[in-house]
Amino acid sequence: MLTIDNKKAVLLQAFGAAETVTGSKLLVRTPSLNIMIDCGLFQGLKSLRAKNWQYPPINPSKIDDLLITHAHLDHTGYIPLLVKYGYKGKIYMSAPTRELCEIILRDSAKLQEEDAYKANVHGYTKHKLAEPLYTIADVEVALKQFVTVELNKLYQLNNYINFQFFPAGHIPGACSIKLNCYGKHIVFSGDLGRRHTPYLPSPQAPGEADYLVMEATYGDRLHENSDAGEQLTAMVREVISQGGNLLIPCFAVGRAQELLLLLYQLKQERKIPKEIPIFLDSPMASLANKVLLHYPEWTTLANRHWQKVLSSITINKDFSGTERIIKQKGSKIVLAGSGMLTGGRALEYLKHYLGDDRNIVLLIGFQAAGTRGRALLNGAYEIKIHGGYYPVIAKVHEITGLSAHADQQELMDWLYSNNKAPIKLYLNHGEPCALEALRVKVKDKLRWDVTILKQDQLEVLYAV
Ligand SMILES: [Zn+2]
Repeated sequence: MLTIDNKKAVLLQAFGAAETVTGSKLLVRTPSLNIMIDCGLFQGLKSLRAKNWQYPPINPSKIDDLLITHAHLDHTGYIPLLVKYGYKGKIYMSAPTRELCEIILRDSAKLQEEDAYKANVHGYTKHKLAEPLYTIADVEVALKQFVTVELNKLYQLNNYINFQFFPAGHIPGACSIKLNCYGKHIVFSGDLGRRHTPYLPSPQAPGEADYLVMEATYGDRLHENSDAGEQLTAMVREVISQGGNLLIPCFAVGRAQELLLLLYQLKQERKIPKEIPIFLDSPMASLANKVLLHYPEWTTLANRHWQKVLSSITINKDFSGTERIIKQKGSKIVLAGSGMLTGGRALEYLKHYLGDDRNIVLLIGFQAAGTRGRALLNGAYEIKIHGGYYPVIAKVHEITGLSAHADQQELMDWLYSNNKAPIKLYLNHGEPCALEALRVKVKDKLRWDVTILKQDQLEVLYAV
């Protein structure tokens, strides 16, 4: 067998999102540069979250460049720590990602500081003294290394390596990345969005990839064909007829905006009453709304339309407002973060709404293992929030058609759009069942060499 000298090869290693959907961190080791793609936090299962507290598997000072596909916390949330531990290089991302990322990281640090404080005051921690993973001060230091890149433009890292960002749909600013590395193209999908969503471009074809690294969040599922608007209409009508409330936990960036747009359309079409109040209880989502207005070229929706959508809802920013909304009589629709119910304002609503069968909790995004969202989808009879147990009496529904992720067919279509069979396809960012289903599908339909990336395992791509 031909052996390759690792010092003269291009190697790939996953430090996260390997057989799971969070903690995205990929490292491309080359003879001249070490390049990291995404730098996300682990979320969900405690065993995964514990990894956030471990020192990185590579000394961050040995990483030369960091490229970020999109702003979601599971792709960016570890950046402040990487910098704290010694990463000195640039952090490249698209303009909307940069602005969203600043909001998301500051919010992440704030939540962690608040959670640590609450845990210490109320004593619901088993640790002696709860500490935040990082602080707002750590975030501010990291932001200084951010650099904005333009779409489809080549950026040279050295004589052998350049890169290019191209649209991935998913959320505003989200990109796939093509690394032209020692004469071969390595394409990283990032998170791929759905085709024909109401306000985002469809993912762009990878082009001519020699190696592909593709996400597989919904590698084993097809999204429902049924109209998401009709399903949502039925749920809104149901809560109104019963005097209940509709709680929609959602990612503040991306999902919240698409949902607001859909609800606005349903009101315009008189499918749901104009009078039903819609609350967006998320300081972060309200900031994200403004970012969309700054980058009209990144959405397919005109700014004046966005203004109308935003003026039709009530945005709440402060915590006292949450109590007022909860106490307000009459049916209402509430959108609040976080999308997988791992934290945020949505938990306050859950505490009040879960125990009443007139209420509906609607889950629309992917719910990772170990999150309260997954527990609800699995039919849990009680949910633990801030040390207390809350019985699940409210109805729990899901609409997968509103997901920000491509389904199996859309992932396959993205692969078909590569102009040639790659030397190898690597699958990441999926739970084991999803990865395995997609691996088998690719092998059967495309007959490509396909491998599921394993945590920390070194993959030798090619000699240079
Ligand atoms: Zn994402």
